[in-house]
Amino acid sequence: ASFGFKTVPEDLKESLVKNVFDSVASKYDLMNDATSLGVHRLWKDEFVSSLRPGRKGAMKCIDVAGGTGDIALRILDYAREKHYDRETTVDVVDINAQMLKEGHKRFKQTMYHNKSNAQDLGEQFIDNTYDLYTIAFGIRNCTSIPDVLKEAHRVLKPGGTFACLEFSRVDNPLLSTIYDQYSFSIIPLLGTLLAGDRESYQYLVESIRKFPPQSEFAQMIRDAGFSTAKDVDGGAWVNLWGGIACIHTGVKL
Ligand code: SAM
Repeated sequence: ASFGFKTVPEDLKESLVKNVFDSVASKYDLMNDATSLGVHRLWKDEFVSSLRPGRKGAMKCIDVAGGTGDIALRILDYAREKHYDRETTVDVVDINAQMLKEGHKRFKQTMYHNKSNAQDLGEQFIDNTYDLYTIAFGIRNCTSIPDVLKEAHRVLKPGGTFACLEFSRVDNPLLSTIYDQYSFSIIPLLGTLLAGDRESYQYLVESIRKFPPQSEFAQMIRDAGFSTAKDVDGGAWVNLWGGIACIHTGVKL
C-alpha cells in the first residue's frame, strides 16, 4: 500500500499520521540518525542557535509537534550554556502520546509535556503567552497548515517569534537528482531494515514532496499575520544544505 495523500481523504490524514508515528516512536531517534546520517542534529543545532533562546533573559517557549523533545532539549541547553539562563521553559506539544512518552523518558521530571493538536492547541494554551514558537519537521504532517499558523499566532505574544524547521525544495538539479535517489530508494530500505516498516518511511518521503516550496510557505506565514523578512534565502527563510531543509521565521505583529 502507498500512503500518498492524493488517494487519502484529508480527514483520514490525521489518523494515518498518528499510526505512522505510533509505529515509529520507539525507533524514531535511531531512525532519524540513520536516514539523515546524523545530519538532522546539525540542522536542529543551527535552527536553535539561530533563534538564540535566552538572549533577552528567560523566555517562555512552546515546541509544537515536539515528538521526543529534540528541539526542546536544545533550547534549554542553549539558554543555559550560552546565556546562563535556567529560567527559560519549553512546553512540548504533540498529537502522539507514544512520541511524547519516548521524549519523557529523556526528560524524566524536568519538563512539562502535553498532548495536543497543532491545529487546535486547546484552551489550556492561552492567547498571547509565548515568546517563541518552534515546530520542527512537524508542520508537513498536519492536515491544515493555515490552522497551525493561526494557532501559532494566537498563542504567541505580540513581537513573539514563529520558527519552523522543515524539509523543503532543492533548486540545484544535480543535488536534487542525488537527493531524490537517496530519498526514494535508501530511506524506505532503511525503514525496512531498521524499523521493519517500509510504508511509514515511504509516507515520510512523500509528505516532504507535497510540502509547499519556500516562497509559498513564507506567504502562508504572512497570511496568518506574521511579518517576515524579504522573500529570499537569508531573509524570510534560510536554506540548509541547498534547501533539503529550511528555516522559516516570522514575527507576530
Ligand atoms: N520535532 C521533532 C523532531 O524534530 O525530532 C519531531 C518531528 S516528527 C518528524 C513529527 C511529529 O509531528 C510527530 O511526533 C507527530 O506525532 C507530530 N504531529 C503530526 N501531526 C500533528 C498535529 N496535527 N499536531 C501535533 N503534532 C503532530
